[in-house]
Amino acid sequence: MALTGLDIFKLTPKKNCKDCGFPTCLAFSMKVAAGGVEIGKCPHMSSEAIEKLSEATAPLMKTITVGTGDTEYKLGGETVLFRHEKTFVNRNRFAVLLSDSMDDAEVDAKIQHMIDVNYVRIGEEMKVEFAALKYAGNKDKYIALVNKVKASGLKVAYILIVEDVNVAKEALELVKAENPVVYGANKENFKEMVELVKADNIALGLKSESLEALYALVEEVQKLGYKNLVLDPGSASVKEAFENTVQIRRINLQGGDRTFGYPSILFVDELAKGDKFMEVALSTLFTMKYGSIIVLSDMDFARALPLYGLRQNVFTDPQKPMRVEPGIYPINGADENAPIICTVDFALTYFIVAGEVERSKVPVQMLIPDAGGYSVLTSWAAGKFTASSITKFIKENGIEEKVKTRKLILPGKVAVLKGDLEENLPGWEIIVGTAESMFIPKFLKELTGK
Ligand code: SF4
Repeated sequence: MALTGLDIFKLTPKKNCKDCGFPTCLAFSMKVAAGGVEIGKCPHMSSEAIEKLSEATAPLMKTITVGTGDTEYKLGGETVLFRHEKTFVNRNRFAVLLSDSMDDAEVDAKIQHMIDVNYVRIGEEMKVEFAALKYAGNKDKYIALVNKVKASGLKVAYILIVEDVNVAKEALELVKAENPVVYGANKENFKEMVELVKADNIALGLKSESLEALYALVEEVQKLGYKNLVLDPGSASVKEAFENTVQIRRINLQGGDRTFGYPSILFVDELAKGDKFMEVALSTLFTMKYGSIIVLSDMDFARALPLYGLRQNVFTDPQKPMRVEPGIYPINGADENAPIICTVDFALTYFIVAGEVERSKVPVQMLIPDAGGYSVLTSWAAGKFTASSITKFIKENGIEEKVKTRKLILPGKVAVLKGDLEENLPGWEIIVGTAESMFIPKFLKELTGK
């Protein structure tokens, strides 16, 4: 809840000494409430008052950091319920569950899948970010599992899923330096769990049997002075998990209640009960609302392609179009003699055109100049995709030295650029391509005779 000038006035020393540059403490307080001046401008404010005010003006939802180096991820920190209101801040992360109840072959297969699914799409690395290591009762096997994942070369952060504090302690020693999440604090063990993670400020995952009990548990943990938390909305049923996840976010952001102002962890592996397709469906649901870590039973390309694509769409600024890096990209094994097809850097256009070029199986170089991230006609109308901008890109990037071909295919919708390009690029054959991408394969085959 935002503080009013009167709330702040109650905390000022009321000296009216003007050291803050304002004639009265009340005038100063009103300005602070309006965000026009920092509370620290009053040198007489007590440290308790400053602490209280900074707590009250802190973001509603905490941002927590887990992992280290290349596997460091920020979770939470959201400010809106809907992407179109502003933007979502920290994308959800995907985890794969491994447990000491699995045999070696199963664990090895899952690790291999995690290694295999690792690709870049529009500048973003698509991979499993967490290994969720669940303790199922065999301590020696569990410790061996933690060591095995560490030794596998997987670049992941860790979640230790364990309610037994002694086992958690032993496992944490192995991955403490990787700044993992320790999940498994409940109403019985939370004091020992907080004790375990406090010194190293390790994120602690809380679980409870109901939303009300979870709220009470967060309050208890906060009373111990610990606020580096991840909340489990529950996995008794899909209905309950979804309701609780949405309620937690609403209570936090709409209700202004910081008790629920933490990122969440959703166990879709449990909710889907072994149904791979249900697992993907639930993961899409919680990508949109409002999972921070989504734990799956496995990650293969069938799961990864829809999930990472959706996540990339949801967690980008709706005001900024997704762009591919300008440059020249060989497709179908194109060499320096292959013709060049030119399109814009708007990611959607790029992937549609690239897909059709791939479908043609004709080797082609794709030239992507900087067109402001807009589609062909929009960037042309905005003056960002013109004969001079394409020429400038070709000259400045040394394209004439990189390739031997002098065939440049234009999108059919900007056929009007042909004349100017012929003038700007003497020696080049400017070819007007198709107006619709679906005709590209036929067009390329006819052009090249392949
Ligand atoms: Fe009041 Fe502090 Fe400003 Fe002095 S410096 S007038 S005590 S708010």
